[in-house]
Amino acid sequence: MKVIDILRRAEAEGKTRFAFELLPPLKGENIGAIFEVIDALAPYDPAYINITHHREEVKYVPRSGGGLERRVVRKRPGTVGISAAIMARYGIEAVPHLICGGASRFELEDALIEMEFLGIENVLALRGDCMKGENAFQAHSDGYSHAAELVRHIENMNRGKFEDAAIENCTPTHFCVGVAGYPEKHFEAPNRAADIARLREKVDAGAQYVVTQLFYDNARYFEYVDDCRAAGITVPIVPGLKPFSTKRQLSLLPQIFHVDLPDALVKAVEACKTNEDVRKVGVEWAVDQALALKKAGVPAIHFYTMGRSDNVTKILSKL
Ligand code: FAD
Repeated sequence: MKVIDILRRAEAEGKTRFAFELLPPLKGENIGAIFEVIDALAPYDPAYINITHHREEVKYVPRSGGGLERRVVRKRPGTVGISAAIMARYGIEAVPHLICGGASRFELEDALIEMEFLGIENVLALRGDCMKGENAFQAHSDGYSHAAELVRHIENMNRGKFEDAAIENCTPTHFCVGVAGYPEKHFEAPNRAADIARLREKVDAGAQYVVTQLFYDNARYFEYVDDCRAAGITVPIVPGLKPFSTKRQLSLLPQIFHVDLPDALVKAVEACKTNEDVRKVGVEWAVDQALALKKAGVPAIHFYTMGRSDNVTKILSKL
C-alpha cells in the first residue's frame, strides 16, 4: 500500500498512525538486531517503517608494503534488502530512503528498478549530506544536486520514461514519493521562505507527502505547516520526533540537525544526574509533543528510533 493512501485513510478516520525510522545494521552485524526492534514496535501497529540510506565513506588502510590504500566503504549497506525483508516477514510497508549523494542517475535508476522488482511501492527521495571530509555537498558528475531532480526522475519512471534512453517500451513503475522538510529551515537555505519555495518544487515535481526534520517545539511545526499551506503546498506534512536520550545531545542535536532546543527542555536535561534521568525527561517531552500533535489531527508521527525501541515503546504506551 502506498504511504499517501495510509495517510489519507488516517485523515479520513481521524486517526494518528505511528511510523518508525530504523537504520540498517553496521556492516558485519546481523539483520536480527533490526527484527528485535520491530518485534517490540509491532504491537503499536506501525503504519510503515522507514529505512535510512548511508553514504559511502573514504578510509585509508595501511598497505603491507608501506603506504596507504584509499578505500571507499559503506558502514551501513543494505537499505533496499532490509526493506524487502521487513515487508516479507511482517507484512508492514517499508520505505527505503534513496539519496542522490555519491550516485549517478543511472545507479539511482537501477536501485529504483530493484525496489520495483521487490514489490516496494514507497521511497523517500533525498539529496543526502556531503561526504565526511567535504565541506559542501558535491553532486556526482552524472548525478543530481537537489532532491527535486530525483523526484522528477522517479515521476518520469512512473510514466514509463527511464533515464537510460536506449531502453524502449519501459514498464512504468508505481512509486509513492516522500521528501524531507525542515520546520527550522535547512541549514544551507538563505531563509525559511526560500527553503519552503524549494519544498514546493519537490511537491510540484511529484512528491506526495513530506516528513519533517526532528523538532522539540511543536509551535515550530505548526508555523511551518501554516507557511507551507500559504505557499500552496497541500500534501500531508508528517512531523518527525526523536526522544532526547543523553546529556551530550544538548550540543550534538543543534550541531547535527540545526534545531533549537526549548529553554524548559534544556533546563530539565541539565538538572539530570544520569543519562537514565535524561531518558525519562526525553520520554515525557516526546509524550507531550505527540499528544498535542495527535490533538491537532496529524495523520502520522514519524519516530526517529536510531535503532532503539525501549524509549519509543515507553512513549507509545502513553499515547
Ligand atoms: P534538498 O531538498 O535538495 O535541499 C537541500 C538544500 O538545497 C536546501 O537548503 C534547499 O533549500 C536547497 N535547494 C533545493 N533545491 C535547490 C535549487 N534548485 N537551487 C538552490 N538550492 C536548492 N540523509 C541521509 O544521508 N540518509 C538518510 O536516510 C536521510 N534520511 C532523512 C530523513 C528525513 C525525514 C530528513 C528530514 C532528512 C534525512 N536525511 C538523510 C538528511 C538529508 O539528506 C539532509 O538534510 C540533506 O542536507 C538535504 O536533503 P534534502 O533531500 O532535504 O535536500
